[in-house]
Amino acid sequence: MIQFKKINALQSYLNQQRMNGKKIGFVPTMGALHAGHISLLETARKACDLLVCSIFVNPTQFNDPKDFEKYPITLDTDIKLLASANTDILFLPNVTELYPEGTAQLEKYPLDFLEQILEGEFRPGHFQGVCQVMKRLLDAVEPEKLFMGQKDYQQCMVVQRLLDITGKRIELITCPTIREPDGLAMSSRNRRLSPEAREKAIGIYKTLEYINANLKKGHLDSLLKEAHTLLEKTGFQIEYITLANAKSLEIRNEWDGSSEMVCLIAAFLDGVRLIDNMVISK
Ligand code: AMP
Repeated sequence: MIQFKKINALQSYLNQQRMNGKKIGFVPTMGALHAGHISLLETARKACDLLVCSIFVNPTQFNDPKDFEKYPITLDTDIKLLASANTDILFLPNVTELYPEGTAQLEKYPLDFLEQILEGEFRPGHFQGVCQVMKRLLDAVEPEKLFMGQKDYQQCMVVQRLLDITGKRIELITCPTIREPDGLAMSSRNRRLSPEAREKAIGIYKTLEYINANLKKGHLDSLLKEAHTLLEKTGFQIEYITLANAKSLEIRNEWDGSSEMVCLIAAFLDGVRLIDNMVISK
């Protein structure tokens, strides 16, 4: 595995590989890698000739500075995991490399309602930060295919919007959420849960399953209320439990019985903010 810290050096190498006909697949991450990240790498490995992974904890997407400070960093272990997943290139830029002009005044992207709902509502500026870093990473790597996790459902939609806005002809491949054996979605933030909280954390998945099992045509208010009660009982402080159209992410208070729906949850447990979602299967 070759490591690059500088955009120029990375680009010269990739240009050469591209001229040799290599198709580039890209998995951007913030490190503290787990089996969820590895599954993206495995999918990408099969679908491309040259596998690039980036590790960069992007300051511009953290609306809460404390969350940024506490973000886990496990670079040595990450490098070993990446090498055993047959990653060809690790891109490890620092803040100055990606934001040479600083981060105070950055461009804004027209994300419309996507940044006003759910994560956009509760984490103001978060998706602008995601777009700012993704634009820079994609300019540097210029992959054919980009692999991201369904775990961050809204983020996938935002990044697709970014690809559309910037006219980048990159195929976004959304990979399924990898879960712990008890159902908890894998996340770098899970490391911050105390053993007691870790046991309770399964509550989010249980709530998603409850909604999946009980969704019926018509008004959704009482189902969502029951789900709130269920999750609150396990000790979570809920930000949202929402049902939306799975394709457009438009929030729904009623279900027509046929359109594909997704349930999305964000909630705090023990001071750790967890998110998860489930596409409803009927
Ligand atoms: P992060 O390092 O949290 O920015 O995540 C990097 C990529 O891994 C994103 O595309 C995430 O959606 C994806 N990812 C994170 N957790 C999981 C998971 N449990 N299953 C599948 N993909 C995941």
